[in-house]
Amino acid sequence: MARYTGPVCRLCRREGIKLYLKGDRCYSSKCAIDRRGYAPGQHGHMRRKPTEYGLQLREKQKAKRIYGVLERQFRNYYEKAVRQKGVTGENLLRLLECRLDNVIYRMGFAASRPQARQIVRYGHVEVNGKRVTIPSYQVKEKDVVAIREKSRSLGMFKEIAEQGASKVVPEWLSVNFETLTGEVNYLPKREDIDVPIQEHLIVELYSK
Ligand code: SF4
Repeated sequence: MARYTGPVCRLCRREGIKLYLKGDRCYSSKCAIDRRGYAPGQHGHMRRKPTEYGLQLREKQKAKRIYGVLERQFRNYYEKAVRQKGVTGENLLRLLECRLDNVIYRMGFAASRPQARQIVRYGHVEVNGKRVTIPSYQVKEKDVVAIREKSRSLGMFKEIAEQGASKVVPEWLSVNFETLTGEVNYLPKREDIDVPIQEHLIVELYSK
């Protein structure tokens, strides 16, 4: 299945929440959720009581859209989460959070996850001193993630370095904005992951 290339604001309107897919625009008055906070399409205004299955499905779609993951890959994450020790839902969220593109976004090196994915793909990122171009790469505890030295002179990264002090970085990561380098202090626990997802609904959906 091909990656979704349509208007991304439509995805937020479908889920009824901000998924923060467009960077700065998401924080401005131009955000489509603020202007047209109903579902897209002809029947978008109609409110139907969702079924249990409908709720579970929406939760899964929301998670896929937030992290920019397609169905097959998302299913693989779920299966890996089942095989890990601990609570499956939390394992699933941890696997998604530890994707390199998400870590770049969380460290404040990109304005959105889609932009972070591009930054990784274009070869601007290294992990433990080695270039990594795979957005789904899983970071581990104590990994050092950095914008490559050659790329730091690009206008975009200079701006990020200047804005650094105003960025909020989650506790499980630490960042030095002068060198555009960060470290994974520990793998995130559920309370470190602030996404509006009820992961137990996804687990219920897949375990049927
Ligand atoms: Fe979603 Fe951002 Fe578009 Fe708002 S501007 S609808 S948060 S992608």
